[in-house]
Amino acid sequence: MDEFLPISALQHYAYCPRQFALIHVERAWVENRYTAEGRILHDRVDSGDAEQRKEVRFERSVMLRSVQYYLTGKLDLVEVYSNNCYIPVEYKRGKPKLQDWDRIQVCAQALCIEEMRSTQVSEGAIWYWEVRRRETVALTNDLRESTISAINACHWLIEGGETPRPAVPESRCKACSLRDLCRPERFRRDRSASYARNLFEL
Ligand code: SF4
Repeated sequence: MDEFLPISALQHYAYCPRQFALIHVERAWVENRYTAEGRILHDRVDSGDAEQRKEVRFERSVMLRSVQYYLTGKLDLVEVYSNNCYIPVEYKRGKPKLQDWDRIQVCAQALCIEEMRSTQVSEGAIWYWEVRRRETVALTNDLRESTISAINACHWLIEGGETPRPAVPESRCKACSLRDLCRPERFRRDRSASYARNLFEL
């Protein structure tokens, strides 16, 4: 591996491996309303120095790196408690999701903190701007395994240099900023055509 993977890329992979490859293998990027709002939110959060309040130190815009997983990134906020407990906090513009897309990102941040500060992180948090709510992320073994699988898969895709075909439900494509570039309907049409051909050839 020669390249450190940006932690934010894991969210792209978890949402759609093809989206990940378009952005991180083919280097395509199209901003839409959602990505622009997310960027503005992070810029706002980034401005601020470390602050001590009673038992907690708030460190903002913390640079992260893991040599073990070849990861790099910037964390919006880490809360450091006097008992040496660390809680990474990620800010998101949307609302909580059933899927682990956002939780995987927080778990990867925790893996970096564990390596950099020789500690164990048992939970993280996501603050959702749209609903003004903080969600706790329990760093379970299952979440850690999913995160490490996603990290490995991302490295393989980058090394292989190939973009996979669309393999996610159509509903995800509707909110995807890369839809025009990806043209998922073209592949789905091909699949329907080959299905119909096979029917008649039997
Ligand atoms: S349009 Fe659909 S298949 Fe294509 S990158 Fe986006 S989510 Fe993935």
